[in-house]
Amino acid sequence: MIEELEKASKIARDVYNYSKSLLKPDTYLIEIAEKIEEKIIDLGGFPAFPVNLSINEIAAHYTPDINDRSILKEGDLIKVDIGVHVDGYIVDFAYTYEVNDNKYEDLVLASKEALKRVKTIIRKDIELGIIGKEVEETIKKYGYKPIYNLTGHKIERYLLHASINIPNYDNGSQTKISEGIYAVEPFATNGIGFVKDCGSSKIYSVVNYKPLRNLNARKILDNIYNKYKYLPFCKRWIYRDFKDLNNIDLIINYLIKEKVLIEYKILCEQSKGLVSQFETTFLINNGVKDLVEII
Ligand code: MN
Ligand code: MN
Repeated sequence: MIEELEKASKIARDVYNYSKSLLKPDTYLIEIAEKIEEKIIDLGGFPAFPVNLSINEIAAHYTPDINDRSILKEGDLIKVDIGVHVDGYIVDFAYTYEVNDNKYEDLVLASKEALKRVKTIIRKDIELGIIGKEVEETIKKYGYKPIYNLTGHKIERYLLHASINIPNYDNGSQTKISEGIYAVEPFATNGIGFVKDCGSSKIYSVVNYKPLRNLNARKILDNIYNKYKYLPFCKRWIYRDFKDLNNIDLIINYLIKEKVLIEYKILCEQSKGLVSQFETTFLINNGVKDLVEII
């Protein structure tokens, strides 16, 4: 295995164990996110994206913003989604935890078991539809629905979502998996099985790195690009990186208007159903390696 990927994999495993120790009731989400991100850096990696802490009907893309005062509460169903990269080699993983409760144990198990099942069948040349079918059938056995409009994805160097999507249902795709790195992420819900946008996440990524007329914006963009390339970053990080700037919001808006940045939306289950998720990253060549082994 490439040395950098091996290092990211080792860090991911350590960070997974560390992150679980932070999920105590009455803790600020921002504290959890920042401690996880700091740990990744302490261990010699970088966050591949801001730590996502999505609670209950929020399926994905929630990271605490700069003045976020949200607190983790008893009974919350939290999805912790973490990315680690070393020199652009990314490991992406997630798990669900019900804070001091087990009312939704089955819902948590549904997505966990789906990922376990995929782990037993995934290999080079398997069709995408077959993976989706396994996810869908496993989740339905528990009496829940997969989230139809969320997918896993191929990963490339400095590119979190490469061209191939891995469905969470049987979409009939006969496209075969080639060698490479893939994140598989089954989502299960007791709702209708679809997510919709429900607010701005303050998570962005550069999609078009181009010269800008506005010199101030250009300087900021150069800094962002040098540090994050095309990987997602958040406003919280920009405030930390550019402490002495007072027009950060204006510049971010300008960069979005210029189509240099895109902003991700927070994704919520459409019928406010609760959502569970498990995710790991597989290295596929002639064999299969689970780079995190949380399941
Ligand atoms: Mn993820
Ligand atoms: Mn992912």
